[in-house]
Parts: sequence; C-alpha cells; structure tokens
Amino acid sequence: MKTITQKFSSFCFPNLGIENVLFPNKTENPLSLHFLKTFSPAKQRASSLSTCTIQNPIADPNREANSPTKTQLYPTIFGKSTKPLHHHAKSSDVILSNKMITSHIRCGDLDSALNVFDNMTLKTTVTWNSVLAGMSKKRGKLKEAQELFVKIPEPDAVSYNTMLSCYVRNSNMERAQAFFEDMPIKDTPSWNTMITGFAQNQQMDKARDLFLIMPTKNVVTWNAMISGYVECGDLDSALKLFEKAPFKSVVAWTAMITGYMKLGRIGLAERLFEKMPEKNLVTWNAMIAGYIENHRAEDGVKLFRTMVGFGIQPNSSTLSSALLGCSELSALQLGRQVHQLVCKSPLCDDTTAGTSLISMYCKCGVLEDGWKLFVQVPRRDVVTWNAMISGYAQHGEGKKALGLFDEMIEKGMKPDWITFVAVLMACNHAGFTDLGVKYFHSMAKDYGLVAKPDHYTCMVDLLGRAGKLVEAVDLIEKMPFKPHAAVFGTLLGACRIHKNTEMAEFASQKLLNLDPASATGYVQLANVYAATKRWDHVARVRKSMKSCKVVKTPGYSWIEVKSMAHQFRSGDKFHPELASIHGKLKELEKKMKLAGYVPDLEFALHDVGEEQKEQLLLWHGEKLAIAYGLIKLPPGTPIRVFKNLRVCGDCHRAIKYISQIERREIIVRDTTRFHHFKDGHCSCADYW
Ligand SMILES: [Zn+2]
Ligand SMILES: [Zn+2]
Repeated sequence: MKTITQKFSSFCFPNLGIENVLFPNKTENPLSLHFLKTFSPAKQRASSLSTCTIQNPIADPNREANSPTKTQLYPTIFGKSTKPLHHHAKSSDVILSNKMITSHIRCGDLDSALNVFDNMTLKTTVTWNSVLAGMSKKRGKLKEAQELFVKIPEPDAVSYNTMLSCYVRNSNMERAQAFFEDMPIKDTPSWNTMITGFAQNQQMDKARDLFLIMPTKNVVTWNAMISGYVECGDLDSALKLFEKAPFKSVVAWTAMITGYMKLGRIGLAERLFEKMPEKNLVTWNAMIAGYIENHRAEDGVKLFRTMVGFGIQPNSSTLSSALLGCSELSALQLGRQVHQLVCKSPLCDDTTAGTSLISMYCKCGVLEDGWKLFVQVPRRDVVTWNAMISGYAQHGEGKKALGLFDEMIEKGMKPDWITFVAVLMACNHAGFTDLGVKYFHSMAKDYGLVAKPDHYTCMVDLLGRAGKLVEAVDLIEKMPFKPHAAVFGTLLGACRIHKNTEMAEFASQKLLNLDPASATGYVQLANVYAATKRWDHVARVRKSMKSCKVVKTPGYSWIEVKSMAHQFRSGDKFHPELASIHGKLKELEKKMKLAGYVPDLEFALHDVGEEQKEQLLLWHGEKLAIAYGLIKLPPGTPIRVFKNLRVCGDCHRAIKYISQIERREIIVRDTTRFHHFKDGHCSCADYW
C-alpha cells in the first residue's frame, strides 16, 4: 500500500498532504450508493440534480421546547382550538417520545415509529408531523398519510407542507395542485415543493406559471427551475434563468454543466467548470462522467486524478465513472490504483463499486481478478451478475458464462435484457449456435423480456458466423421494428468470413441507405471484394467512398508499458523505438516461417506485389504492439494488446505462432472480444 498515496500525489498536486485528505472521515453522501446501478452516468446525474430540491420538512423534536407558540401560525383552522398544552408534567415524556419517533423514521422504520405513536397518551403537532413525514417519505403510503393528516388536531405549516410533498413524491401532481390551492397559508417551501414536483415530472410550463407568480423565490426555487429545464433538454431556457438568477448555487452551476455534457458541448461545460466559484463532489462527478460519456475517457481519468489530488473523497459514482474510463482506455495500472482506493474507503463493501471493478478487470483483460472480486462481493445484484457473465462471454469462456447464468437463476435472481445480451454473446463467441437460438426464444417465453435491437444484432452475428446467412437475413426481415444499421454491419462481417459477395452487396446497400456516412459499409464491402481478389471492385468502392467524403476509422493498437499507453498504426512511422521493433519482427518472421507460418495475403488490402504485401502484413499495428511488449516487458508477464477494430486473420494466425515461439501468453482485445493466445492456440478456437 505504500505507493498509492505517492502515486496519486505525484499526479498533480504534490504538496497537499494527500494521506490525510484522501479519506478524512466517513462522510455519508446522499447521492452515492443508489445511482449508477445501471452504470449510466446520465441516470446518476439526473438523480443528483434533484436531490437538493425536494424538501422534506421533518419536524425537529427539540423545536417544540423553544417555540411553544408555533401553532399560533394557524389560529383556527377548521375551527379547532389552539390552546397551548397544559400537561407540563408530561411534556418531557412527549419530547422523549417524539425523539424516538424521529429516530425510527430516520432509520426508515415506520412500524416502530407507529408503535411509539399509538402508545402515546399525549401528542403534540410535532408528534403528528413526524409520523406524517415518515409516511410521506415512503412511496405508496399516500392513503395512510391522508388518513393521518385529517386527524391532526392542530395542523401547522409543517403538516401542510409534509402532506403536500407526500402528494408530490407519489407523483400525484393533480391532487398536489388541488391541495396546494386550498392551503390556508403558503410559505416559500410550499411553493418550492410544487415547482420542484412539476419540474421533476417534466411539466415545465406549469412550473413556470407558479414560478412567475411566486411571491418570494429563494435559491431552491431557482435550482428547481434550472435543473428542470436541463432535464427536459431545454438548455436555452435553463441558461436564460441561470444568467438571471440572483443566487447561483453550486447546484445550478452543476445542473448547467450536466446539461452541456448531455448535449456533447464539452467546451461550454469546461468553461463553466473553470469559472464556478465553488465545486462539490456532484460537480466533479458531472464533469468526469460527462467526459466518459462523450468518449473522452482520457480527459475523464485525468480529471479524476486531479480531483483525488485535491483531496476530494470520491464516492461510488465517481469511482464507477473513473473505472469506466480505465476500461475504455484499458488502463489496467490506473484501474488497480482505483481498486486500492476503494479498498481503503468506506465503499469497500459497496455493490456498485465492486461491480465497476469487476467490469474494469474483465475489460482490461484480467478475467481472474474479475472473478476473484465477484466471489467477494457480499450483496450481488443483477448488474454484478451481468458484469461477470459478459466478462466471460467477451473472453470466449462460453461454458463458464452459461454456467454462471444457470447459477444466477438458481439463486432466484431475475435476469434483465442486458443479461441476455451477455448470454447470446457467450453462445456467439463459443460457437453454440443452437443453444443461442434456444436462449433467444426463452427470453420472451420464460422471462417475459422483449427482444431489443442488441439481441437481434447478436443473433445475426451468431447465425452469420455459423454460415447460416439465409437464416440471418430471414431474422432481420422478421424483426418487429425497422432494422438498424448495426445489424447490417454485422451481416456484412459474416459475408466476409464466408466470402459471399452477393449477400455482401445486399447488406452494404441496406447499411448505406440507413447510414450513408458509414465507413463500415464501404470498408467491409471492399474487404469482401479483396478477399475474392476482385480488385477492380475494390477500387470502385474506394472511389465512391472518396467522392462521398466518408472517413474510415483509422485502425490502431496499443499496449500499456509502465503505465504509459503506446499506440501503433499499421505501418507506423512515429514510434521512437521503431528500429528495434522492426528488428524483432524480422527475427520473429524467420522463426515463424520455419515453424510453418505462411502469411495470409488475403488480408493485405492493396493490390501490390506479394513481397510488399508480406511487408505490409508484418507491420500491422497489433504485431508492432506485441513486438514492443516482447522487448519491454519482463519474460513471463502476459502481453496485453488492445485494438480499436477487429483483429485481422493474418495477425491472428501469426500471434498463435508468436505465443509458442516466445512462450508468452498474449491477450488481444478487439472491438468484440478477447483472444487469449497460449502455446500456439487461441481461446476463440479460430471462431470469431
Ligand atoms: Zn493484421
Ligand atoms: Zn482468437
């Protein structure tokens, strides 16, 4: 553990004495644990926006002693008398019982609170209010709350506001409005409760009507309006209010940042972030998650480091975002550092944090560590199971993935649609075609889940790889919704494997109709032509790609060496150690050829001479990255290489030889899965 604080402190702010500030105390953060269950930063931020606005006027039991006349606020509501209490001898008992009720309610134990309440001979309005607040906090207790409310002998402002927020919490805005209009006195919290309620139910017109006539607005009011507009995606209105607001709280600033990030306007979010006078954890989380969501993982992870450097304690949302960033970048070293942070923090037993770590390890290629953690997580939820099943699926461990799925069902866990994406992926990568078809049908039949586009893409992939192209097309035609571009992209991939030009032309046509700027449509079609040596067609596709100004995603591979990512393109010209990498590859080529390797020229996508083709193949990005790893990483350590596109057939074949010649485990992650190469074999059994 000696290095973690040093590492983090060396990131940017070395003099802050991180050791003391990383985790100064166990701060309960109201925003943390429940969000991000679905790993969705958007959801997390949506929830965090609203936390500060709903008001829950829980009565303070001590207040009674200080302000015995507060019931005078409502002198004769419903003709009830408001005489002060005359049981002085018992008032200390009342205060004690009230305190007990409040503490039960705080723990969410409504039954015990009611028990105390029923046994009290003397009750004050505070007593009633506390129980009412307890009911209002629980969803679905609206009826009980109403019944209790009408029994309160002397309801005060708190009683009314509590009842009002109960309507709002139960999303009964119509009743809330009627109740609000009948309230004898409306104070600022009453107005705020209504405005917040409308804003959270996306009824901004109604919120605005109230906002305009509200007598005294406070910071909560402005926050509710600004957050509401952001939630609806109406950034213009949000900005107008934000600029006008006399109080700009951290909540409002953060809401604006969230809104900009949602629309992908990162520059504007950054400007606000720099300008804002005070930031809280939610603000940092909004920025970090925003970067990750907008595929700027590097910036997200960098900001996370900065935040920790400042001594701000991350919560599970922060960690989930940071880990998602590490997964995207395959930054295993940083991922491990975040893991150490989690271990030291109060989140060490947290399900969400544990699940994010499992996902990170699986995506960084260390399946065993993901599994070790999975076993340790004390309370697994469906997201945790999904993470591990899809981890196995991505690594081609089909049997283990399906075994875990069975175990999940046995344990009474209810699978969701994401579980089935993982299950179908597992069947797909392991070549279990019939089983996949069975699971696909069982999803609706046995679990009542409706198939989504993702499931169809998996199925087309499954059938396509198995050579059942006609069945795949049949399935696309039977889809209950308009086929999406990805499904044709997948079909195209299958056409390439089976060299079916006719079907490839059909699929690429469909794909380009749906998405004319799709590079995949052109590239894959060109690949099919190249595989069948129809170079004139390849040239034609390239030409029309150029005239349509379609930009091909450049392929690159990267490897992490000493916490630094080294990136290689095909035929890379920029890496400073290129000479020794080429040397290593030349040496390997000789040994591979002796062992029987024949370059697969089909994957050299240019119509050039054979020798030149071999050269092109030898300098493919993944081979360069592996050679660099062989030079730099100590013998015995596995080599983990990542590629942003699918690994090519020739590289796949060559890496099998390399793993045997060098006696190294080589793990390659491409866009769809992991390949574990060892002793001349790959875990995918050449089925990918
Ligand atoms: Zn290759
Ligand atoms: Zn493989």
